[in-house]
Amino acid sequence: MILVVEDEELVADMVRLNLEHAGFAVETCTTAEAALAHIGAAELIVLDRMLPGMDGLEFARVVRRTLTVPILMLTARGEVAARVAGLDAGADDYLAKPFAMPELLARVRALLRRAPAAAPEPAPKPPAAPRGSGRTIRFDRYVVHLDTREATTNEGTEILTETECQLLLYFYDHAGEMLSRTDILENVWGMDRFPTARTVDNYVLRLRKLFEPDPESPRYLITVRGRGYSFRIDPA
Ligand code: CA
Repeated sequence: MILVVEDEELVADMVRLNLEHAGFAVETCTTAEAALAHIGAAELIVLDRMLPGMDGLEFARVVRRTLTVPILMLTARGEVAARVAGLDAGADDYLAKPFAMPELLARVRALLRRAPAAAPEPAPKPPAAPRGSGRTIRFDRYVVHLDTREATTNEGTEILTETECQLLLYFYDHAGEMLSRTDILENVWGMDRFPTARTVDNYVLRLRKLFEPDPESPRYLITVRGRGYSFRIDPA
């Protein structure tokens, strides 16, 4: 999917139509804030530099904290400093407005050729160096033996994946702290493996299903709106 972040609807519609005609699936957003929810699924981002609220430069920096997805930035013609700033913020290429659609399509194709193949869902950590070996996590009615990954869960006795164990251990060892998705990605997955913020959310949903008395209203694995997650080991 190509994510188009552009507040000018005429431009956004034109880009979308042309990309769709070229065979791409397209998602358009008129603000960077709205686009953040879609970056994990994007194979390329067409990003207007001037946006209301969070601008294109800031958005590119946020994306670059966790993702290598190619970014094509749209800038006003003649803004050399803006183009340099865009590239510095993490854009891979830029196109000055007004641009010709064939040029946009050519640049999109070129960026996609250069991009590494989409990273698969992170593989489990190699068994050589699991953190927390031999430890046991206990809270509420739940028990997780980290050496065998055997867990007492809502669904009975389950064998967790190494990533599920490491994520739970990270939450458990940082109980009460505000943990951003970036913190979690860096510490549990490692930034070299290119997971996405959405990966964290999916794993949190899985942990809640296993380790929350009511997964729909979490008591332990709390969402901190706009910031990340916090693990409350001892809820009131
Ligand atoms: Ca704009």
